[in-house]
Amino acid sequence: MSERIEEGATPSLEAQVAQATPMMAQYLSIKADHTEGLLFYRMGDFYELFFEDAEIAAKALSIHCTTRGTHMGEPIKMAGVPVHAAEEYLSRLIAQNFRVVIAEQTEDPAEAKKRGAKSVVARAVVRIVTPGTLTEERLLDPGRASRLVAVAAHKGGYGIASADVASGRFHLCATDEAGLLGELARIDPVELIAAEGLELPALPRRVTVGRRVPSEFRANDAAERLAAAFGVADLAAFGTFSPVEAAAGLALVNYLAETQLDNAPPLDPPAKDEPGDVMAIDAATRASLELTRPTRPDGPTLLSAVDRTVSGIGAQRLGERLSSPSTNRILIAERHDGVAAFVDDALARSAVRAALRGVPDVLRAVGRLAAGRGQPRDALAVSRALAAAATAHAALPVERPPILASIAEALSETPGEIGARLGAMLDERAAAANHPDGYIAHGIDPALDEARTLRDESRRYVAALQADYQNETGVRSLKIKHNAVLGWFIEVPVGHADTLRGHEAFSHRQSLASQVRFTTEPLRDLESRILAASDDARSREQAIFADLVAGIIAARPFLSRVAEGMAELDVTAALAEVAVERRWVRPTVEDGLAFAVEDGRHPVVEAALSDASLFVPNGCDLTPGEGENAARAIILTGPNMGGKSTYLRQNALIAILAQAGSFVPAARARIGIVDRLFSRIGASDDLAAGRSTFMVEMVELAAILNQAGRGALVILDEIGRGTATFDGLSIAWAALERLNEIGCRTLFATHYHELTALSDRRPRIHNATMRVKEWRGDIVFLHQVEPGAADRSYGVQVARLAGLPAAVVRRARDVLNRLEETDRGAARAALMADLPLFATAAPAATPALAASKALEVLDGIDPDALSPREALEALYELKAARRAEGGDE
Ligand code: ATP
Repeated sequence: MSERIEEGATPSLEAQVAQATPMMAQYLSIKADHTEGLLFYRMGDFYELFFEDAEIAAKALSIHCTTRGTHMGEPIKMAGVPVHAAEEYLSRLIAQNFRVVIAEQTEDPAEAKKRGAKSVVARAVVRIVTPGTLTEERLLDPGRASRLVAVAAHKGGYGIASADVASGRFHLCATDEAGLLGELARIDPVELIAAEGLELPALPRRVTVGRRVPSEFRANDAAERLAAAFGVADLAAFGTFSPVEAAAGLALVNYLAETQLDNAPPLDPPAKDEPGDVMAIDAATRASLELTRPTRPDGPTLLSAVDRTVSGIGAQRLGERLSSPSTNRILIAERHDGVAAFVDDALARSAVRAALRGVPDVLRAVGRLAAGRGQPRDALAVSRALAAAATAHAALPVERPPILASIAEALSETPGEIGARLGAMLDERAAAANHPDGYIAHGIDPALDEARTLRDESRRYVAALQADYQNETGVRSLKIKHNAVLGWFIEVPVGHADTLRGHEAFSHRQSLASQVRFTTEPLRDLESRILAASDDARSREQAIFADLVAGIIAARPFLSRVAEGMAELDVTAALAEVAVERRWVRPTVEDGLAFAVEDGRHPVVEAALSDASLFVPNGCDLTPGEGENAARAIILTGPNMGGKSTYLRQNALIAILAQAGSFVPAARARIGIVDRLFSRIGASDDLAAGRSTFMVEMVELAAILNQAGRGALVILDEIGRGTATFDGLSIAWAALERLNEIGCRTLFATHYHELTALSDRRPRIHNATMRVKEWRGDIVFLHQVEPGAADRSYGVQVARLAGLPAAVVRRARDVLNRLEETDRGAARAALMADLPLFATAAPAATPALAASKALEVLDGIDPDALSPREALEALYELKAARRAEGGDE
């Protein structure tokens, strides 16, 4: 990123160091060891950047770039940020995907001075700040996990390690090439590391990718080394992990140690993510359904539309639930039971929510404390979280289904021993403000209190001494003052100086124009006692704090259980809140292939409407059932803007919500567990990856057809439209047939009306259409799904509504009429006749003709040029046109 020393272009490091000032020599050698990021070089109250780093940072942060001295005959560029504002600048650099290497002063500058005037303060790199290893409260989004991921590859398989470094949650999973992108999209990392040369799929979001030497991802002895890193003899203590999973895990742990040096926050032992436990949702489906990330910046997502959580940890958990809906029927039912309990008990719901509102993220606070970056505020966070957990526990409903019973168990120990200690020992106000001292409450440690009394009452002692001296000398204007250079001193106007000189006790310190300053033995004593007392108070306070921090770290497993309980509780109560607010119902989630939604609504569109009742509910039944006519697939036709995409998406989202443990926007819903969800809405290109719109669409369709099994739910919108009509139609046709053979539940929206003919031959394929009304030539969308096929697309009417110039609309109508009359009708008939499966199927009815049709046909006839047979045909055509216009019956 900021590789500064280019081989050949500039002299060697040794040559440069030899010519540099001692400080620059130190800078250059630190920089040479750390080319991976911008170097923040601590100088007093600033972090300074030099050379290209200074230029890069100046540009990225809009700060001033100046020069300071010269190096090798060139001025040295320099830019700096004040230490007290460093977090703000770091956050801006991290947001721009930079890494930042932090070199601190590791000794007191006074020590360096003692070694000689020219000696440089010792400095060392203490941390490399990267997007995936942040722990600072201000640098993290409270409602979103910030994951670091390591990907290892071995014998065709992939291992993925993911860690939310701030809170210490650590997961491992394995996948194959086809599943890699989907898993990465699920985990949604902010930073990823992989071996140089390992081919990675194009990630949907911008992620900082770090390449490392391949040996760091070696699988052979990774399991033993990872086990050793967690202090166990065998990794099996935590679950069954493949070598490639262990390799990824080890690479992550090592990277963390490397970037955090001695200050890595603790990681939980690895937990295994089993792919079968969650609904498989590939990256394209996630993006098209906008589950947790919007397509347009700041657009709504499923998460944003349903999120009623009141804490950061709850919001994180809800995001995880929606990203990884469960496939475990029992777990899902338990979660629904929990939501139901809170739906039924409004009082408990609001009490629990009040208790959890704004509850701090305990594990992140513990992470900072354990990493040595903790402040009194973090200890207070732990204390407050434990107090909130105790209040929430007391507010739980009396009737507790198993999920609430286990949450109650997680919370019941609170505030626990550590909570009680923190509650008694912290001074809330001082700790909340991160005061450097005073955050340990009075009455905890007598020695601390005494030291503080001595320090705090210094003014009183001084005042008393001043009064004594005034009496002793008779000088009323005598004052005892303090400044940074002299410390404490006695000051009298010049006119009274002799009086004090006459006293043996007063020794002269300084004479100014109008004042003379003295000191005395008792004042010197007092001064050193005051200094010693504040040093003593501070170090006693720090020792007590260190002890508290050790207690907090030791209590991490307990705190982790409490945090887990609170996150689950917040999600459960929040889902009840949204269910009540939006009249959602509990779905039945069962084994099998049912999919029956009555009066379903789109959770995001519904939320966006000013009046939710404006949303027109629609049912969907794909349940195979016993009867021949039960649908497994629905072909949905209808006008542009009719609501097809909305309908398709709403059914996918209802399945996700149901399996995430939420109630759903419907009057009733019965859903057989969906093990895989595919959704393709429209097409987008991926020019950067060298794939055109149509190519992307086909690659994605291929993935669906290859991966979907009976348990899948497949949502396809306008597949095949990015190419010539007949190619597209043929592909759509064949894909639908294939999906029908697989037997998965399918919703297929299309403008190819020809496809609706499939339902004649395949009993498990049904047609549905979006109702519209035409009114005075305009089209009115009713957004209602009804059985049957649409007669036409109304594309031209929609174009007119969109404001296409009238002349263009007229001309489009004209062209459409001609097309429908000639080419398309004839070609379609030929197509239908050609397909063996439908050899006997009647060609679909000629599309209805527009109002001007009969006249147009008439216009096109040249009577003199017609044979008797052609004349008869023309007559038939005219009759047909009139009938279509409704003028014949
Ligand atoms: P196209 O074929 O042009 O892609 P479409 O049939 O897929 O169109 P949608 O994009 O789903 O249409 O919906 C068009 C608009 O209609 C949306 O802006 C949506 O807000 C509104 N809409 C869709 N369904 C409903 C509904 N059930 N109730 C109320 N409004 C709806």
